Amino acid sequence: MDIAEKARTAAPLIDPFMRKISYLRVSVTDRCDFRCVYCMAENMTFLPKKDVLTLEELDRLCSAFVSRGVKKLRLTGGEPLVRRDIMQLIRRLSRHLVSGSLEELTLTTNGSQLSRYADELADCGVRRINVSVDTLDPEKFRAITRRGDLSVVLKGLEAAARAGLQVKINAVALKGVNEHEIDDMIRWSHGLGYDLTLIETMPLGEIDDDRTDQYLPLSQVRADLMDRFTLDDIPYKTGGPARYVRVRETGGRLGFITPLSHNFCETCNRVRVTCTGTLFMCLGQEDAADLRAPLRASEGDDLLHKAIDEAISRKPKGHDFIIDRDRQAPAVSRHMSMTGG
Ligand code: SAM
Ligand code: SF4
Repeated sequence: MDIAEKARTAAPLIDPFMRKISYLRVSVTDRCDFRCVYCMAENMTFLPKKDVLTLEELDRLCSAFVSRGVKKLRLTGGEPLVRRDIMQLIRRLSRHLVSGSLEELTLTTNGSQLSRYADELADCGVRRINVSVDTLDPEKFRAITRRGDLSVVLKGLEAAARAGLQVKINAVALKGVNEHEIDDMIRWSHGLGYDLTLIETMPLGEIDDDRTDQYLPLSQVRADLMDRFTLDDIPYKTGGPARYVRVRETGGRLGFITPLSHNFCETCNRVRVTCTGTLFMCLGQEDAADLRAPLRASEGDDLLHKAIDEAISRKPKGHDFIIDRDRQAPAVSRHMSMTGG
């Protein structure tokens, strides 16, 4: 590598709107042990293994981004903890925490494997995790996830607490499903010291149900909560798109992710990579760049860095989601389990 090349591959990633890319979300697998109704169809066809990046390739890819100024790395999926030998990748990536180039290594999980992995995650320097729990009713939980067992997830959460992991609960707000349970979810999560973030359904990928039936605007949820709770706006930021309030009655933090009714694009500092090495510069746009070909073309990372630079130079200003009764097709055809939420 000559000097110019070296300088380029160490330069921070700045997009055309002068936003510095400091947050990478990586989907390490498209597979999952659940089939949540808003996320997947009952019968999913998963990717052939050869298309999916190996753990070594994922490490090279993440490390390339870390060398370009990514400070926060979130592993997601599918379900990241069902990928075989996933702890090997997490262990490898933790070297960037030790060296100080990475500030945070974290993951989003459905919690089903946490009992098994919580201690090791903590040992690898993972401090915070997001765990998705949409309901505290075991039957509803089974219905939403189509195969999940709430008691297993709750045991996983206990293991996380024992390991010292800080937990944020993610709950997708679903009309007629968990909309009357949100008070309980707030009291439960805050009672255990967890932040809670409510997420609006996003039109990503074909599912079996009609999304307009699931869609519950968070503006409505928030207005409704204000009849019973005092919500104080707070400037708390986690590097993600959630806007937070403090619930005076519980003392806990409550976040809202409202991609449909609100625009959080101006300060977007993130990009996403799928488990096949496709880089999406924006969750809501189709434009993408293939990083697998440059990864596999040579052992060095020059081609990879070139492809990353080229992609970041095309990062769009924002997105344009629509959930529309007349337009049954999703606004973006890929599933959340591809890009990892
Ligand atoms: N399997 C892990 C989990 O469930 O946490 C990680 C991947 S999952 C795709 C990441 C997050 O995206 C979860 O909190 C999930 O509830 C959310 N999600 C999935 N599909 C969604 C959709 N269509 N709209 C909004 N959120 C969605
Ligand atoms: Fe699996 Fe997470 Fe999608 Fe549910 S939301 S099906 S747990 S990837």
